Amino acid sequence: MKLTCASCPLRLESFHFIKGKRLFSICDLCRLRGLNFEDYYNYSNQVYAQVIALNYCGASKVSATTKQNITPEFCRIIEEIISEYDYASVVVKKNISRGQLNERLLAYENHEINLVNVGNFFDNLTQLGFNVESLHNLQRVDHSTRMWLYHHYHQTCQYCGRIGYSIDHINPVSRGGSNEISNLILSCNECNKLKGNMPYEWFQEFNLKTLAINQKLVINEKQINQLKSSQEALSRQLAAYSHRTRILQDDQTTIYRQRIKAQQTLLDGLNSDYQSLRNLRKNYIKSCYQIALINKKREE
Ligand SMILES: [Zn+2]
Ligand SMILES: [Zn+2]
Repeated sequence: MKLTCASCPLRLESFHFIKGKRLFSICDLCRLRGLNFEDYYNYSNQVYAQVIALNYCGASKVSATTKQNITPEFCRIIEEIISEYDYASVVVKKNISRGQLNERLLAYENHEINLVNVGNFFDNLTQLGFNVESLHNLQRVDHSTRMWLYHHYHQTCQYCGRIGYSIDHINPVSRGGSNEISNLILSCNECNKLKGNMPYEWFQEFNLKTLAINQKLVINEKQINQLKSSQEALSRQLAAYSHRTRILQDDQTTIYRQRIKAQQTLLDGLNSDYQSLRNLRKNYIKSCYQIALINKKREE
């Protein structure tokens, strides 16, 4: 769910406003700018905080604060880079922290860094002064190849069958695998990480043994996603109702909240089943790998 900052024009994913149990009126960039969230009023965030049971941190009524003066052009580029980062792989996030990225973005906004947006995330990161050489080769699969793979494999992990957006090298880069399309397959983040440096044939073999678990995971994921979107729809209805009527608490909002809470209970249960299945599969495949390695050593 995207929220709008009370201080700058950025529209960002909700986690840019959340820290621990607190939901701020202004975004993480503005907090880094040294602005005080208590000076800013953000009605939507206040309602949203109530919906997801976080503490709203901001002014409780309209206050006389000025908006950050960011040109639409800057705003568009910054939003684009942040959004690419939000959905980037763990490899990127391990190398570049969100705080580091925000700092460079502010420097760019203050004209301390020059950036010509060419629409390529990694080129933009380089221009922001990050060393992307150290990032895994996987990240260098170009946009059109990536899009082709998404389309060809219907955004489905070819190992477990769940939703997948990770590009997996059939023969791992660490074992000399290339970026040729014949060496690329679509997987989910989890299978991608789990496979790691394992030879493809091994992973395929271990993965086949967890077929029954994989099928359960697919069903579980679907149920969780359905429940989540239905819960989000309810949250939006509640936010819209509160916005329209300017009422934060009445019989109607109570009904909404009860339904959201009931769904949350279901969701918690599903999530915990899902988590145990994931762990079961992960541990099984990992132990298969350990045994295979030992056997291989013996043969040598
Ligand atoms: Zn902001
Ligand atoms: Zn998978």
